[in-house]
Amino acid sequence: MSLKKRSVKEANTRGKTVLVRVDLNVPTRDGAISDDSRIRAALPTLILLKESGARILVCSHFGRPDGHVVEELRLTAVRNRLSELLGVPVMDAGGPNGDQPTRVVSTLAPGEFALLENLRFDPGEEANSVEFSRHLGSLADIFVNDAFGAAHRAHASTVGVAKYLPSYAGLLMQRELEMLGNTLEDSTGATIAIVGGAKVADKIQVLRHLSEKVDTILVGGGMVAAFFAAQGKSGGSAVVTEQDITAARGLLESGEANVIVPADVVTATEFDRNSSPTVCESTNVPSDGLILDIGPRCSTEYARIIGIADTIIWNGPMGVFEWPEFAKGSFAVARAVAANKTAISVIGGGSTAELVGSLGLSDQITHVSTGGGASLEFLEGKVLPGVDALDDATE
Ligand code: AMP
Repeated sequence: MSLKKRSVKEANTRGKTVLVRVDLNVPTRDGAISDDSRIRAALPTLILLKESGARILVCSHFGRPDGHVVEELRLTAVRNRLSELLGVPVMDAGGPNGDQPTRVVSTLAPGEFALLENLRFDPGEEANSVEFSRHLGSLADIFVNDAFGAAHRAHASTVGVAKYLPSYAGLLMQRELEMLGNTLEDSTGATIAIVGGAKVADKIQVLRHLSEKVDTILVGGGMVAAFFAAQGKSGGSAVVTEQDITAARGLLESGEANVIVPADVVTATEFDRNSSPTVCESTNVPSDGLILDIGPRCSTEYARIIGIADTIIWNGPMGVFEWPEFAKGSFAVARAVAANKTAISVIGGGSTAELVGSLGLSDQITHVSTGGGASLEFLEGKVLPGVDALDDATE
């Protein structure tokens, strides 16, 4: 898959209608938007299109209505917030199917915006149906995909529609591809990956793929138990399958990257926020202990390695960072990554982005991905259908 996609900056959009797929799937609490970062992340492309004199039809999914109209999943609050942030009205284009969007689009003047209703109200969106893809294509002259967070899904608005319109990557999409993809390809000097999270099974593909690209991998999270078991040590009371152990052993013995496992860990007897933490050496994990964080010695060692790295890619917390007693390792790693001002640092979305955000460190990282599932699949080396569907850049 080529990562060099035709950029929205090259599109001649003056007076044209542009269908822009963005990811406005924001978290909400009691019907109110609790974090508008995704809406903000979409703004640069939308502003560029406005300034270029395009008529702009924005579209996004929101939640999981499963092909039906669900009143609570209408985009009304999102449209209002988008309008506030853009400082101009955003019309309700209705739909997403039927005749209303066509009528609304025909009234748009250059530089004006309309927002289609939640794409997933139509079953054709997730089914990537020809009919719904064609309908979306009929609404515009040009397609711009800026929804990196949805690029791992082959849906009508991410893949199908690109068959019917000339397609371009939005600014956010381009930045994500450049930072998650090219950073490792073009890296020089010491390149490290930090990989944590809940389970080895979820991260094995990431570990395998990154081991071919980096010099050193720092391992943390729930998968530490499988690595200890693969080294012939006790992994404590966590359920570790033969498959997990074989996968961990394969990485330790692959000879690709230098895989470093913790010298000490924090354990607890219960998977519980109030369970008391016990620090133990990697050689001494009690059989009734669950590994819930990396230990203080490991944190210091990881921080030292991070401090001298030139390129850092991080996916997955080092422990159960949601619980203060088991958050110390993740926080130490986050602070070390933020403190290395000379390195290029990239965080692969999801819970790691949440963790760094909770410490107020996001702006000290070179790039924090907006895609959770999409960045994970990207780091696994998979082809993202929503990226693949876009027209390649001509060079
Ligand atoms: P992921 O989204 O796969 O990166 O996993 C993130 C989740 O992994 C977080 O919610 C953490 O609480 C959890 N996690 C991290 N370390 C551990 C651990 N040692 N045991 C269980 N869960 C963990």
